[in-house]
Amino acid sequence: MSDIQLPIDFESQMLSLLGKQEFEAFKSAVNQSPRTSIRLNPAKTFSPIWPMSPIPWSENGFFLEERPSFTLDPAFQAGAYYVQEASSIFIEHILKSLQIPKGIYLDLAAAPGGKSTLLSSYLGNKGLLVANEVIQSRAQILKENAIKWGLGNIVVTNNDPDHFEPLEGFFDLVLVDAPCSGEGMFRKDPQAREEWSPDHLILCSSRQKRIMDKAGALVKGGGYLIYSTCTFNKQENEEMIHFLTEEFAFEPVQIPLDPTWNIVESQVETPDGTFFGYRFFPHKVEGEGFFVTVLKRPDSASSQDPGRIKDFKHPVLKSIGERDEKAMESELGFEGNGKYYSLNDSIFRINWNYFRHFEKISQHLSLRYFGVELGKKQKNDWIPSHEWALSTLPKSGFSTFETNLDQALDFLRKNEQQIPGLPLGWVLLTYQNLPLGWVKNLGNRLNNYFPKEWRIRM
Ligand code: SAM
Repeated sequence: MSDIQLPIDFESQMLSLLGKQEFEAFKSAVNQSPRTSIRLNPAKTFSPIWPMSPIPWSENGFFLEERPSFTLDPAFQAGAYYVQEASSIFIEHILKSLQIPKGIYLDLAAAPGGKSTLLSSYLGNKGLLVANEVIQSRAQILKENAIKWGLGNIVVTNNDPDHFEPLEGFFDLVLVDAPCSGEGMFRKDPQAREEWSPDHLILCSSRQKRIMDKAGALVKGGGYLIYSTCTFNKQENEEMIHFLTEEFAFEPVQIPLDPTWNIVESQVETPDGTFFGYRFFPHKVEGEGFFVTVLKRPDSASSQDPGRIKDFKHPVLKSIGERDEKAMESELGFEGNGKYYSLNDSIFRINWNYFRHFEKISQHLSLRYFGVELGKKQKNDWIPSHEWALSTLPKSGFSTFETNLDQALDFLRKNEQQIPGLPLGWVLLTYQNLPLGWVKNLGNRLNNYFPKEWRIRM
């Protein structure tokens, strides 16, 4: 393989950041293939058969020796793991080592959902995540990944950061993985190399400031802001710390590091104290280029509680009465704690503890998905949704059938298929005990309810 051609201005920028000797090590790392890594979904039991080694800063992240075909792995389609490069999984270490309180979180630039699914796992049933993406087509991919992850604690929205203004001081944690000049992705993504120029970098940096000017205000008193990029330069990284501390009151947060990880801490002096940034260089860590900083809002900063919306009104969402709710919970064996809404005849469930937050959010933002869509109820029968199949909620009352690999792939491809020994009626197909989706066995015919648009075409 011939050496990757780096933009000349980028080379001189890196040379001044690293010095000559390290720059050579950096260049040679950029010419090596990136390592494949995955993050397991702790809510879905799955034991991969591939040889794996742990990512040092993560409990759920692993390097793989080789890159398998994820598309043709039913466990991937079932949301048992997410393919994510190692550096960005450091967010897991930040959350756990700082013991960031759970609550209502926002991922403002969330698609395709790598960091959102990580936040969702951290929150479990003790929080709610608003995963937002401004670009409509990308919000769709984010929604799919939230559904596959299956925890039911994500609200997917499709809004510009400006639209969040009514939610100032509302979030316990705001994460912004900002659109950036992508220097850290040069070896993975040739397009990032082609698009890079000093002018593009300036454009990215001013777009980031526009986003962060909104994002900083959304954190409640005592809450945290995490800002990250996949780029090395100071304009998009350390300068952002200066910008944020000029615009808002923030306190510095230092992340505990193991020196063997080789993550480079940088210190940023501001009138409010010394702040910290963390850089991942491909010649020092096994991962792509990444930068992250954490800031804390002082306890005295203003906060906004969701309040109580008496008589919840929404153009398309209807809240379901408490009696029907209770009956549904016991019918479905959900062990209480659900709040239910109907939308186009379909029933959705979210965690009761966060329904006020959800209702407030729904008044201001454009919802693409929330909680778990259970499906439609017709008289006493459920037409269960694919979302419910992939969620971690119980599916008691339905038959299940464990498929082999060929049967699972036929199902995921929506091929015509017959499965010997399948019970009649609605059946949840599983692969290695992971739910894949529904079929309805009519005796002489099998109807496949895997979503058309998700069908695998390989
Ligand atoms: N956090 C994601 C993950 O881990 O999977 C990756 C996010 S990517 C680096 C940045 C995202 O910001 C993209 O999805 C992009 O569409 C979105 N974006 C672009 N312009 C934006 C803007 N002006 N405001 C907010 N988000 C924007």
